[in-house]
Amino acid sequence: MILIRKGSIKQKTKQDMRNTLKDCAKLFVVAAVFCSSLAHAQSKDPIIEKMIKEANENSQLENLAHELLDQIGPRLVGTPQMKKANDWAVAKYGTWGISAKNEQWGQWRGWERGITHIDLVSPRLRTLEGTQLAWSPSTKKPINAEAIVLPLVADSIAFQNWLPTVKGKVVLISLNPISGRPDKNWEEFATKDVFAKMKADKAAAGAAWAARLKKTGLNAKNLALALENAGAAAVVINNWSQGWGVDKVFGANTTKIPTVDLSVEDYGLVYRLAESGSKPKLKIVSESKELGLVPTLNTIAEIKGTTKPNEYVMLSAHFDSWDAASGATDNGSGTIMMMETMRILKKFYPNPKRTILVGHWGSEEQGLNGSRAFVEDHPEIVSNLQALFNQDNGTGRVVNLSGQGFAKAKDFIPRWLAAVPDTIKNQIRTSFPGSPSSGGSDNASFASAGAPGFSLSSTSWDYGTYTWHTNRDSYDKLVFDEIRSNAILAAILVYMACEDPERLSHEKATLPANPRTGAPGVWPTPTKANRKGGVN
Ligand SMILES: [Zn+2]
Repeated sequence: MILIRKGSIKQKTKQDMRNTLKDCAKLFVVAAVFCSSLAHAQSKDPIIEKMIKEANENSQLENLAHELLDQIGPRLVGTPQMKKANDWAVAKYGTWGISAKNEQWGQWRGWERGITHIDLVSPRLRTLEGTQLAWSPSTKKPINAEAIVLPLVADSIAFQNWLPTVKGKVVLISLNPISGRPDKNWEEFATKDVFAKMKADKAAAGAAWAARLKKTGLNAKNLALALENAGAAAVVINNWSQGWGVDKVFGANTTKIPTVDLSVEDYGLVYRLAESGSKPKLKIVSESKELGLVPTLNTIAEIKGTTKPNEYVMLSAHFDSWDAASGATDNGSGTIMMMETMRILKKFYPNPKRTILVGHWGSEEQGLNGSRAFVEDHPEIVSNLQALFNQDNGTGRVVNLSGQGFAKAKDFIPRWLAAVPDTIKNQIRTSFPGSPSSGGSDNASFASAGAPGFSLSSTSWDYGTYTWHTNRDSYDKLVFDEIRSNAILAAILVYMACEDPERLSHEKATLPANPRTGAPGVWPTPTKANRKGGVN
């Protein structure tokens, strides 16, 4: 609101009046431009307008995230939770009138995580923060045992001589980080000299621990096996992710005794007590179930094409996760983004020219196995792929889109992106022709088979340190507004790729030479899916 003082009009000079008239004229021009831009907006594709409105005003992302991440939880390959998620997705697509199915492509060691509970019981009581690694063997009854640290030995013979002393003990086999504070925190608050000293100490400690492990003469896998064969009660590790309170949690190497990860704080506590001769005792309950070989699945949903049903536009995001948290950003965010995109497409674009498919892949984490199997099993789809859009690097808005080495991608992707609202499109840096991914995520399974699989690459939100494969990858880390904008982006890209009168050719660009060796760039070749995993 503009306030006008009494008498101000009276005091206006002729010049003022002329200026006022000029201002009015300017306003008129601005208004006319505004109206024409409105008219332009209204003349935009009504399907796109409706999809954007739906994504913003009737978003299902929060519901989907709650059902998948909170109610079902993490989705480690071979677990009942993975199967539950596959069935949930098929049922969910059914409620939207989208046909979906679970396609078995292999088998995996079936395992179910049970309770992990770890207490320091001597010299004082403290319940510790920790969890068993995936596929850790179950404790039959609670372990009550002294914790010891892997010693520095002279050589592998000395290690073998020491080995019998582990009988009945819990053995700590990881480096104890010299600080539980992230480097960023040191950099912010320490003096330059103290920060530099810490960095040097940290590097030296890392090298010393690597040397200590090397002296055993064993790699990580064989060290764990040697300890359990010598009668150790459990193996304790720390895989600190270099951020506040965050650990990465992968699979166990032991086959008879549990392997647990303790937080950097609690690992350090037990480690120091052991080193000072306080003989710390731990009570460990670490339960799990072996379930034999179980089927492993991809969930595939489809909106059938009308005029070109045998050409395909695909959405792609792996469905499985590691299991120390809920797999929210790896890859719950990609999963719900693709489900929401399919829901919106079905509602406003139910009769696409080309067939729309979504692949929710199993066992990406063990080597892109679900998508590799799909590529092997469906050559007719791979050879008739217009484009595939994969998302798998966290909850952030998409900021990079590469042509993946396809020579003609530059003639299509910018055209498809042109239909995307500026606020989303202007965040994205494209690069053509780019280079094909040889791994990393499921778009690589397609690109290596010569089919245009693109990656919708997100901004990080500290993905690498805080959420990727960590015990902190939970619902609260999702940034729903960024996932929403990604769903709008994906829906429009799929719509444009379906409607495009032209087919994106699979012609490969000449790849740039290797910057180190100068050798000509080589297109990656397909790797076979592991269809019987987790068994020796
Ligand atoms: Zn992932």
